[in-house]
Amino acid sequence: MRSLTGSGGPTATIVMYHVVRPASGLAATLKGLDVEAFRGQLEYIRAHYTPVNLFDLADAAEGLRSLAPRPVVLTFDDGYAVQREIVFPMLCETRTPAAFFPAASSMIDGRVLDINKIQLILAVSRDIEPVITAIDRAVDREAETGGVSRAEYRRQWWIPSRWDAPAVAYVKRMLQHALPERVRRPLIDDLFRGLVSADERAVAAELYMSVDAVREMHQAGMSIGAHADRHLRLPTLSRHEQETEIDGALRVLDAVGLPRHRFAFCYANGDYDNDSLELLRSRRCRLACTTQPDLARITRNELLTLPRIDTNDLPVRSDAEPNEWTRRAALNDRLSNDP
Ligand SMILES: [Zn+2]
Repeated sequence: MRSLTGSGGPTATIVMYHVVRPASGLAATLKGLDVEAFRGQLEYIRAHYTPVNLFDLADAAEGLRSLAPRPVVLTFDDGYAVQREIVFPMLCETRTPAAFFPAASSMIDGRVLDINKIQLILAVSRDIEPVITAIDRAVDREAETGGVSRAEYRRQWWIPSRWDAPAVAYVKRMLQHALPERVRRPLIDDLFRGLVSADERAVAAELYMSVDAVREMHQAGMSIGAHADRHLRLPTLSRHEQETEIDGALRVLDAVGLPRHRFAFCYANGDYDNDSLELLRSRRCRLACTTQPDLARITRNELLTLPRIDTNDLPVRSDAEPNEWTRRAALNDRLSNDP
């Protein structure tokens, strides 16, 4: 019997990482996992799982290979330089395979992604008032020509989030998605230039991996996939815009010397819709990762919507007791291997 769970079958755990934080420098101001926590988590993972290559999951789904017990794939998004400087040596040292998903506009064009601009604007703003004032001014200008009023925006978005006080939560939401694109982007650029740096290229060079660094990791056996061009949420775009964003993202493959077919993709913010799936299928994408927190079922028809758990879902100490996710992975393993 293949499985006791009916719709079950073999699963893999895919873990999502962004920044592993150094003690100093630009990346230290971003949210992320501290180096020692990453080291502890890597040990925990190696104690309870078998790290495998991302493409092994596709091979297994297509019946080309069987997977090691409790397979895990480590994935690193957005192409931060710390992934090459801190993570890559630790992976090499422990012979742990992993997959990296840099964004094309940052790695190739020297642009800082909007998500990082917003993080950096907030990181340098001890006083958030000037940022709110700038947002208010942009909102008032829009309201004059029939846009949403300041009061309406505040009513909807000036509320605390799980992590942030109302004012910070408001700034994040307004800059991330609440304001219309044509207002949001120039406003982010103005704030970034005024508060963080007038030299975007220099910031990008410090914050992200270069093409050479990514190529080096690929040559050392790491998987490299496409993630985004400008890191836009695909479902917010027209089909044509999605096409532009996806094809822009595939420039990462060209830069590393990988073919534009049977590649791995990772949706920005985990967001996709039917257009995204069709576009990826027509480009013969082999597998794609979301941010839906779950174990990934190893089956052909779920390869373009692979769920991933977050680094925060696993312990950061090597001697920690197996948590819920780890116990589930072990249970699925037993069920799918039971003769
Ligand atoms: Zn991303």
